[in-house]
Formats: sequence, C-alpha cells, structure tokens
Amino acid sequence: MKKYFQIKVAGLVQGVGFRPFVYRMAIKHKLSGTVENRNDGVKIVVYTDEKTLQDFVQDINTSAPPASMIFSVDVTEIAAVNPFSDFSIVKSASVSEEVTEVSPDIAVCSDCMEDIASQPNRIKYPFVNCTNCGPRFTIITDLPYDREKTSMHPFVMCDQCKKEYTDILDRRFHAQPVACNDCGPQYTMKSTAQSETNIEDILTHAARLLEQGDVLAIKGLGGYFICCDAQNEQACLRIRNMKNRDGKPFAVMFRDMESLSKFAKVSDAEKELLTSWRRPIVLLKQREMSHPALNSGLDRIGCMLPYMPFHYLLFDKLQLPALVMTSGNISEEPIIIDDSLAESTFGPLTSGVLSYNRAIANRCDDSVLFVVNEKARFIRRSRGYVPNPVRLSIDVEGILATGPELKNTFALGKGQQAILSQHIGDLKNLETFEFYTETIERFSKLFRFKPKLIASDLHPDYMSTAFADGLNLPVIRVQHHHAHIASCLAEAQYDGKVIGVSFDGTGLGDDQAIWGGEFLLCDLAGYERIAHLEYVPLPGGDHAAKEPWRMAISYLNATFGDAFMGFDLPFLRTLDRKKVNLLLQGITQGLNCPPTSSAGRLFDAVSALTGICLTHSFEAEGPMLLEAMIKKDCQETYPHEYKNGILSFSPMIMEMVNDVLFKTPSEIIAARFHNTLINSIVDVCESIAATSGLRTVALSGGVFMNAYILEHTEKQLIQQGFRVLTNTQVPANDGGIALGQLAVAATISQLK
Ligand code: ZN
Ligand code: ZN
Ligand code: FE
Repeated sequence: MKKYFQIKVAGLVQGVGFRPFVYRMAIKHKLSGTVENRNDGVKIVVYTDEKTLQDFVQDINTSAPPASMIFSVDVTEIAAVNPFSDFSIVKSASVSEEVTEVSPDIAVCSDCMEDIASQPNRIKYPFVNCTNCGPRFTIITDLPYDREKTSMHPFVMCDQCKKEYTDILDRRFHAQPVACNDCGPQYTMKSTAQSETNIEDILTHAARLLEQGDVLAIKGLGGYFICCDAQNEQACLRIRNMKNRDGKPFAVMFRDMESLSKFAKVSDAEKELLTSWRRPIVLLKQREMSHPALNSGLDRIGCMLPYMPFHYLLFDKLQLPALVMTSGNISEEPIIIDDSLAESTFGPLTSGVLSYNRAIANRCDDSVLFVVNEKARFIRRSRGYVPNPVRLSIDVEGILATGPELKNTFALGKGQQAILSQHIGDLKNLETFEFYTETIERFSKLFRFKPKLIASDLHPDYMSTAFADGLNLPVIRVQHHHAHIASCLAEAQYDGKVIGVSFDGTGLGDDQAIWGGEFLLCDLAGYERIAHLEYVPLPGGDHAAKEPWRMAISYLNATFGDAFMGFDLPFLRTLDRKKVNLLLQGITQGLNCPPTSSAGRLFDAVSALTGICLTHSFEAEGPMLLEAMIKKDCQETYPHEYKNGILSFSPMIMEMVNDVLFKTPSEIIAARFHNTLINSIVDVCESIAATSGLRTVALSGGVFMNAYILEHTEKQLIQQGFRVLTNTQVPANDGGIALGQLAVAATISQLK
C-alpha cells in the first residue's frame, strides 16, 4: 500500500550536487514527490510503498555524491499532502537559495576515466570531471557556486557540454567545471627548445624527460609541483639543490596501489585513506630504505595515488612506478600558483614547465596524514579536506581565530561549525603573510563572514597576534598549550574537565617562560597548570630549535654542571670548543636563555647527545631520525623523577650519558628514551588523577606527531582505565591551534 513519507537528510548536502542526485534516484525508483533545501539539510517527500521506500533510502545512503557527508537520515510517515504528478526539485521558502557550503576538491572518478577513453570529445581530455568529481575549492572565487564565480569563467561551454550541463538526468548536470577537448582548458609545455600544446605530444615528451632523469615543474590542482623519477637519486638531488638544499622528505606519487605496495607496507585503514576521493599523502613504513635524497634517511615515506586525470595520462606513458611530487616553492615561500612566476622561477631550473590555462583561485597544498591505532591523524589538513567544517557542540558564530605563527591555519566560526583554512605556513615569511591576509579575506567573502570577536595566541611577537590586534575588535588571548588541548576537546565535542597533556615544540607560557611539556587541568573555559617538565635554559631562544646540540649542552649542564666538559662524548668532539664555551657562558649569565619546559627540545637534546643530529636541515629532523631508529620490541626504560609538579629527566640524562660512553647502540637508546617519556606521561596522569579524580586525558601538541609516542601513550593510558581524547579532525601540531583558540574564545565570551 502506498503512503506519504518524509525523509530528512542532515549533513553536508549543499553545493555537492545532492538534490539532482536525489532527483535521479527518485526517477530510478519511479517515485513521485519533491526534494528541497532546508537550513538543516535536505527534505524529501515521496508517495510510495514500504519496499520501494527502503530501496530508495538505501540508495541515498550508499550512492550519495562523494563530497556529501550524511550525518543522519530520518524517515517518518506523514499525513497525505496534495498528490504529486511527478518528482521535482522545489524552491524552499524557509531557506535562502544561497548555498554557503563549498566542497573540497575531489579526485577524478572512475566514470570520468572511462569517458576519456571512449567519449569522442573527451578522448585523453585532462580536465574531465562531473558532479561526482573534479576541482571545487581551488577554482572558486565567490558564492553562489556558479561557473561565473569560478576560474572556469573564461571558458564558454560547447553545445555538447551545455547539453550535459543542463540535463538533470546527466552525470554532468550543473557540474560547474564541465569541459571537453572542444571548449575547456588545455595544457602547454614549455621547454628550452619549444612550446607544445598537443596533449599527446606533451605526455610523450614529459614521460621521456622524466625517464631519463630530468626534472619538470607541473601545475597541479592547488599549485605547482616539482617532479622527477622517485628512484633516481641524482634527479632527487637536483631538486634539493633547486629548493635551496631543503632537506624535508619528498612526497611520492605511485602509479597504482600495486606499485605502492611494493615500496611500503599498507594496512586496511591506510589503503582506505589512500584511495579515498580526498587522495591525501599518507605516511607509510617503507619496505626497504630508500636513497636518502628521497626521504632524508627516515623509515617512512609520504605516499599518494594519482588524483588528476593528467596524473593517470602521464603514468600511462611512463615506464616508472613512482614520481616525486614535491611542492613547487623555494625555501619557506608558499607553493607557487602564478603561471608567469612559475615560468620565470622553474624555467631556468627544470627541463620543462607544464602548465594549463585555468587559474588556481585558492592555493592549496596536499594534505598529509598518518594512521595510528587504526585512526587517521592529520599532519597537514589542506587539499581534499578544506573547507569542510569541523562540527562543534558550542556556538562559535562571528569569531575569527588568527592561529599560530608556524604551520599557520586560521579558523572562522559559523554557528556550531569551525571552518579552518588550508595550510598557510610560516607567517614570518613576507609572501606567506600576504597569502594569510588574502585568504582571510577570501574566506570572509566565501562564507559571508564578518568577525565580531578575535582569538589570538598569547605571544606578542607572532604576526598572527599583531594581525589580531590590528582589526580593532575585542581580542581574547589564548595560551598556546591550552589551545592545543582545547582543539582536542572541541573536535570531540567534550565539555567537561580533562587532564590535558600538551607536549609540544614551543609556545609562550603565562609566566613568560617557553612552555612545551605541560600537564593542564583544563576545560574550554580555562586551565590550571598542574605539572610540567623541569625548566632548563633554552640557549639562543628560537635558534635552539634549529641546532639540537645547544639543547644537549643545556641538559648536560643542568645535570652535571660543567663537569660534562670532561666526558668523552663523541658529539662533543665534533663541536667547536669555543662555541660550546660561549654557549655555557650565555647559560650561566642568563643571556638570551629563557627557561623552557619544551618536550620537543628534550627530543632535540637526545638526538644531539646520541650523535644522530646536531643541526637540523629541516624542522624536527633530529626527533624524526630518533623515532625512525627505535629498536622494535625493546621495552627498556630510563628512570625519571616526578615531585611537586615537576617532571625531571636528569636521572635519564645520567644513564643515557653512560649508555653513550659505553657505546650502547643508538637503536636501544632511542627505544629507552621514547619508553621513558611514555612512562612518565602515564605516571604523571595517574598522580593527577589521584588528586583530581579525573579519568579523562587529552593528548595534543607537536610531540604527538611522533607515531610511537602517540600509539603507546594512548594504549597505555587506556589500559590504565583512562578515557583518552586525541586529534583526528585537525592536526595535533600547530595546524590545529586555531580550532582551540576559537573554542576557548567562544566559551569565555559566553561566560561573560
Ligand atoms: Zn567524474
Ligand atoms: Zn565542451
Ligand atoms: Fe604548538
């Protein structure tokens, strides 16, 4: 028997082709009824029998457009309404037709890949796309999401494309970037000898150059990339030289899952992430060591799969299994998006610049994740994720969080949603700061946002703090490590008190010291600092993070006094005595040596003390090498001391020095050190739990980018009966700070 039903779909269902999708499903099931946009999602009314209804709802759940996110589907029987003659999309009176949701970019779908093999006007067309795939965020300049408001604007649709675009039963109905060989954007390749525009010629030429070890610049979705054969050490070294000896590990794009699995171990959770439409870079354990020019001597490799049609077409021509795809920037500047800048920068340095004539409206780096304890964690949240909001349990409307100084992202509050920007970078760099202010403007326009309250870091010298102050609006300052823990509470929608373990690089404390190893009793409204790492001098301030040997000297001096100068430590022998004496003088006189409780700097000290890394060639190189070195299944530890809220690692340093003097393998020292840190966290949490009665711990801060520390700290705390909150929607490093700032400012302002 037929009845009337109402189906309410809540979630991210606007701006992703959801209503046409519902329409097509309704036609498939021969349903009559309506679909309309509502403030809280999409409302569907149908007149049908129970069985057809079930099939229809199942299709909605299983075949929804990839970029949509369904939170709930509620079906209720309703009283009879006016009978329907067909199925239609109706305009809703209750909600403005102006869609304010913007989809992230979506990897090319399999249907489109079939089209470029068979559709006459799309044979080998490198910009093929449909409602289910293609560029989104990177091409949009304003809302509503219409072709005129994207960088597809200059391209006039041919008749064939127009037909698909306007036919609601077509997969390309209202696919704004729809295009084909006759009407859409085209690639060009410029090399010293020539300029090519035929896609077949470009692919053949590019493949030949890459195979012979040449370096190319290739325009991607969110910026230019520098590209070479990943297995060719000389080619990788050439890229390192181009990028001013940048030592960071390169990301690698593999032809397919099969080739990738030969290089790296892939779990089910990692495979799911790699093949998802978001196509991030995933850090994976490699099967055997690569050449150091590729991933800097680490045991992991940043892997991804093709996501643009062009990537697939290129691999079709290539004999190689893997290509380096590293961001096209020089030093710390943002990834290049401007075509003429790319040509003048990369032209003289590479064998060819591959470009296309559609502008990148929003710069966007690749996202980077890793999997620990079966959960995906962010290192960098950008392409494929931005600008999806993070759902909160508190109202954050009208708040702008300006974020940290390094790895900056900012966040805007819209209702109970936080919209985080893509990765911006290091704001001390002038070009990056420009990118920051432009992006705040772009986001404000896109999301119809006008700030009325600003949240910023406590540090007066951060560019993001100065920017906050320049807006002439009320500002709430949020302590850096409180913000880390708050980011974790906000994404978990947790509104109680927790024991917050904020283990990090650096952030300014409320006592003007440099914090980074903090145990906070806190909620979103405030914190009490219960315990922290014992202060040691931070010789040279910010310099110390780049030169781990400074922290080794500082820890040795704190543990042994200057008697350590008589120890026969291999790393000391390689240092210039004069430099060491000068540093010691600085420490005793307190010159540019603020006290620090940073856990990140303890990692630095250990990496220098063991001789693994004395000077960083990229951020956190020492700690990363140390982690890569850990001897598997070694359970041993060093002692630590916890008294009156001070966690001291002097007992550990004493034994570690002995280990180094007696030539204990670094693999064992690294394991013992990591185990000690994990033990000490659990130990201090137990102690705080005993006095506070709290059994929930939140772990956040840059140290939890360390997979070993995160895995075992989380496991051990759970074993001890704690509930453990960790970041899974934003990075635990400074890339997630803005979310914490936003949540704290919202909570404080509502208390007033
Ligand atoms: Zn598609
Ligand atoms: Zn066309
Ligand atoms: Fe931090």
